[in-house]
Amino acid sequence: MPDSAPPDPSGSDLSTPTASSPDLFTPNADELIANNARYVEEFDDHDLALQPRRKLAIVACMDSRMDIFEMLGLAHGDAHVIRNGGGIVTDDVIRSLMLSQRLLGTQEVILLHHTDCGLQKVVGDQLREEIEAETGQRPTWEIGGFTDPAESVRNSIRRLRADPFVAHKSYIRGFVYHVEDGRLIEAIVD
Ligand code: ZN
Repeated sequence: MPDSAPPDPSGSDLSTPTASSPDLFTPNADELIANNARYVEEFDDHDLALQPRRKLAIVACMDSRMDIFEMLGLAHGDAHVIRNGGGIVTDDVIRSLMLSQRLLGTQEVILLHHTDCGLQKVVGDQLREEIEAETGQRPTWEIGGFTDPAESVRNSIRRLRADPFVAHKSYIRGFVYHVEDGRLIEAIVD
């Protein structure tokens, strides 16, 4: 039980939270499986090709408020979507882009960061110290915290442009999605 668990007014064992507990968590998998059974009944995507139709790869933050396909008017099969915390360019993003471009024919990359990102609230070095103190292991990866999402997009564009494993460098653009109203604003690199 995490330290943040609320006091149980009933005085019963905290390991058996009541339905009134604000922190009550119910795993989702069973409900999702039921949802999928309904999805299968109307499934209509059997003709989609493995290669994305628009020859497009999108690198985006994992934020749950961004429905990438819906916000961009994309259809199933149109694009690869590579997501991580922040939508920053990491070695694994480069790996996926390399596969996307070389094996699956994509030629354009769009980067999507957003306002109110969790990574704007993270001080990378401090978090690494905390993780190391707690686990005895120092993460080998960067946390990737940033303060300005537009600047983070520009840095990501620069990193892609400089990377030897990324092709089609004329077709790399980046945007900040505004979670307040759904707008996309382009982050331009000179
Ligand atoms: Zn984010």
